[in-house]
Amino acid sequence: MPGPILRIAVPSPLYRTFDYLPPPGCDLATLAPGARVRVPFGRRQTVGFLVEIGADSELDPTLLRPALAVLDRAPILPADVLALIQWAQRYYRHPPGEAFAAALPALLRQGEPATLPRPPPVWRITAAGLTALAESVSLRRAPAQRRLLGYLAQCPAGLDAETLWPVIRNPTATLRALDARGWVESDAPDAPATIDATSAIPPTPPTLSAAQADAVAAVGAVLDRFQVFLLEGVTGSGKTEVYLRLIEAVLARGRQALVLTPEIGLTPQLLARFRERLPGSLAVLHSGLSDRERLNAWLLARDGTARVVVGTRSAVFAPLRAPGLLIVDEEHDPSFKQQDGFRYHARDLAVIRGRQLGVPVVLGSATPALESVRNARDGRYHPLSLPERVGGGTEPPILILDVRRQPMTEGLSQPLLERMRAHLARGEQVLLFLNRRGFAPLLLCHECGWLSQCRHCDARMTLHLRQQRLTCHHCGDNRPVDVVCPVCGSVDLRAVGHGTERLEAALRPLFPDIGIARIDRDSTRRRGSLETLLADIHNGDRRILIGTQMLAKGHHFPEVTLVGVVDADQGLYGVDFRSSERMAQLILQVAGRAGRAEKPGTVLIQTHHPDHPLLRVLVAEGYPAFAAAALAERREASLPPFAHQALLRAEAADPERATGFLNAARALAEPLAAGLEVLGPVPAPMERRAGRYRAHLLLQAARRQDLHRLLDPWVAQLLARPADRRIRWALDVDPVELY
Ligand code: ADP
Ligand code: ZN
Ligand code: ZN
Repeated sequence: MPGPILRIAVPSPLYRTFDYLPPPGCDLATLAPGARVRVPFGRRQTVGFLVEIGADSELDPTLLRPALAVLDRAPILPADVLALIQWAQRYYRHPPGEAFAAALPALLRQGEPATLPRPPPVWRITAAGLTALAESVSLRRAPAQRRLLGYLAQCPAGLDAETLWPVIRNPTATLRALDARGWVESDAPDAPATIDATSAIPPTPPTLSAAQADAVAAVGAVLDRFQVFLLEGVTGSGKTEVYLRLIEAVLARGRQALVLTPEIGLTPQLLARFRERLPGSLAVLHSGLSDRERLNAWLLARDGTARVVVGTRSAVFAPLRAPGLLIVDEEHDPSFKQQDGFRYHARDLAVIRGRQLGVPVVLGSATPALESVRNARDGRYHPLSLPERVGGGTEPPILILDVRRQPMTEGLSQPLLERMRAHLARGEQVLLFLNRRGFAPLLLCHECGWLSQCRHCDARMTLHLRQQRLTCHHCGDNRPVDVVCPVCGSVDLRAVGHGTERLEAALRPLFPDIGIARIDRDSTRRRGSLETLLADIHNGDRRILIGTQMLAKGHHFPEVTLVGVVDADQGLYGVDFRSSERMAQLILQVAGRAGRAEKPGTVLIQTHHPDHPLLRVLVAEGYPAFAAAALAERREASLPPFAHQALLRAEAADPERATGFLNAARALAEPLAAGLEVLGPVPAPMERRAGRYRAHLLLQAARRQDLHRLLDPWVAQLLARPADRRIRWALDVDPVELY
């Protein structure tokens, strides 16, 4: 008779779970999906995840191996997270074992116990201990015990074993002996040491504007059920205040709130505001944490100690004991989509999770993704808008600066420089946005035309002057800067184009008395350097701010009254159909850094394409009009959100091989492709990257179900092909970029 079979998601690239027999002596009554199980896998052991207990196996039961051990007495994941991971694994067609591995903290994948480390117990001397010490008879033959007791007698508050090491070797053994005699006692403090609790009384919240109050009321009315809200409001319109009020309402009902933010948006400023306002505790989950910190935060969320969880992408899988509200801030941000491995979209999964849990989901942004705008327009999401900045401040006017035929100083036009001088002369601050780090995007030989091409990619190597290196931003390869042209030997090598480092170097002599803060990945690599730069900006020591998109999000610079977008052209004609949407979002985001009520800001956009229709609409009418125009273009071209896509990427050292695979995949797709377009294979926009040739096949359907109907049988057929190790391929469902 076949016994119960454990179906286990084992971290491996295979698209299935694996069947095991229960480990010998396992109590089946206590076993439930969601527990981790140590299993033999090939010739090694690994930690897998129990997803189901089945009655039989497709395999011959005599061939099944028993699992080695069940690691958890209870499921480590609540049922809703288990269901969410399984849903996502199926939707994105990702191997189940890898999906679980990606969704769990690293230490749990490694088999670490799912328990919070308790702070060490504090030991105190008891009354009996004091008596024993005074009598000293019973301690005559135990000098170590006597010494310890004598020491503890002087520390009525107690000490932990670690601090007793200088007093006596191996205090724990002695403490146990004393404990057995009733002469000492210990207490384990209740609060885990890692909790981020604040006991300060939260500040009085501001009186809500009418629009804020409407938004809070609309969501507050449906706290018991699923409904998605799209909260649209410019920077400074009070979105965060709306989140805080809603979270307070949810906490008052004894429930928890989960807030997702883009990595870059998770600034110290945002966290400080949350900590200050929300009583109880906050757990933070982001990629900067150590594995232990991450696991602790995860566990605090799970046991409900952390009532608010703020985190980046993967926090969408955070377990919550009593979930009551999901918030996605800056919901348009592309970083919510994982770009490799398990390619899920955290915003979309938040919506799925909200539906599963029956709780509201609030998506907030100044510049919502066109997908979300369309969902709101079609009534699937409930639109909420905060049309004005709070406190009467106006949005900064945005002006287009036509730089055609203009004399340029290192990428800056005269009108922009003049405006900078005027604002700086008034003691104000200026922010220049240039989404390109390094000194110059390429080095060119003026003699023969040689370019600093990367040996591994279809890309130029960026010149980093301070480090004296050429670096490829796509594969990371780098080498010393050439002094002479490697082809013709000429020394006339020129840096072409502008990066943030060059802008900084150019501005120093122009504004010798003004401190400059450059904020990009290079200047902030060292720990603490970003904080130092931000402090200098806030105290006015640095008044020219140069930055990449790192500067565009999250931070508030109230003294900035002029924002210059140095080069808008990159985004207007990018290879990706989403380029213009991204550019509009970035422009408005940097614009949002500027000004406040008393000091309104101005935004200048340098472009060679002042008549670009979408740019004009954006500047003249604002984001909603831009979104409407961009959506009309997308509809016309049958592009997302009016189509649903899946991208099959393939790469190989040999271009023929990648294309050959995709042609075969295309042939397999065609008989299944009712209601679908199969486009390609075509080379990826960057065909060669890190030494491998890349191409893709795009599947597109007007209706999502047509696309997904094909994916299952198709992926199964692709997997059934004889494996060719020379090809790497991956499916990206709902891709957000084509690279
Ligand atoms: P957003 O998240 O849309 O950028 P915030 O919620 O951060 O906007 O609000 C911007 C600033 O205005 C913050 O300093 C906030 O404390 C303040 N603020 C928000 N709502 C109000 C209000 N109703 N009255 C006064 N000040 C407010
Ligand atoms: Zn040359
Ligand atoms: Zn490269």
